[in-house]
Amino acid sequence: MTDPDGPVRRPHVLILGGTTEARRLAAGLADRLPGLRVTTSLAGRVAAPRLPAGEVRIGGFGGPDGLAHWLREHAVDALIDATHPFAGTISFNAAQAAATAHVPLLALRRPGWVPEPGDTWHPVASLSEAAAALPTLGHRVFLTTGRMGLAAFAHLTDLWFLVRSVDAPDPPFPPRMEALLDRGPFTLEGERALLRDHRIDVLVTKDSGAAATAPKLTAAREAGVPVVVVRRPETPQDVPTAESPAEAMAWVCDRFA
Ligand code: NAP
Repeated sequence: MTDPDGPVRRPHVLILGGTTEARRLAAGLADRLPGLRVTTSLAGRVAAPRLPAGEVRIGGFGGPDGLAHWLREHAVDALIDATHPFAGTISFNAAQAAATAHVPLLALRRPGWVPEPGDTWHPVASLSEAAAALPTLGHRVFLTTGRMGLAAFAHLTDLWFLVRSVDAPDPPFPPRMEALLDRGPFTLEGERALLRDHRIDVLVTKDSGAAATAPKLTAAREAGVPVVVVRRPETPQDVPTAESPAEAMAWVCDRFA
């Protein structure tokens, strides 16, 4: 395939994105290594995504083989899986595709949240386990696990839900529900007001680990509201990992600066 750079080929890094960290990394690389070609891939779930610096492609690759093909066809020199900790499938696809195409892979994974004194956390393994735990914990639920997977809560007809998501949820969802369309970062003041104004008595969250969405945990602690925390899914073993965009930048700089 023809290289868009013409005769001078720039090293090409593909970032699997959809997170704040992926956007920060793309911006940092554009700033620090202007000689690098950086493409970010988005799944296309959000109608109007925040676009990162550099090139962007949108949509699935067609499984690990499709991704391996893309890596070869676009002469990718390094792959960074900066997807959300709950995007389990694409991370396994990335590990398999990188091995097939012989492209070095780095996973950029923010650390999970850690409970603090005063927190009442109920860790669960899945959204269905979260739904099963809810009736004994409260009646007015602040559900922050996103618009996908609301079907797991649809049978909870006695509970009231405040559902926060970027795009409007599609049914099936719980019958007694208010949708709040918003995206982070969120402030502690704002989260306190939401809990108070909606008389929330239980919060449900994934262990996303992001600073931008952590204030809800502080607000819940202050208000004595229990938190159902969905644990992270498995990720592929033996993939080198960075915990921050700065660490991932250093990994790229080691190779291409
Ligand atoms: P997933 O279950 O791991 O992936 C499902 C399929 O979506 C993958 O097999 C792949 O399709 C495609 N895909 C996922 N991420 C992609 C990317 N960055 N570029 C191109 N294709 C991608 O992922 P998900 O949970 O649906 O999440 C989708 C995207 O939303 C991710 O990029 C993630 O970073 C972002 N996100 C997810 C969450 C969450 O809670 N899950 C929260 C915030 C943001 P093919 O097999 O066809 O390649």
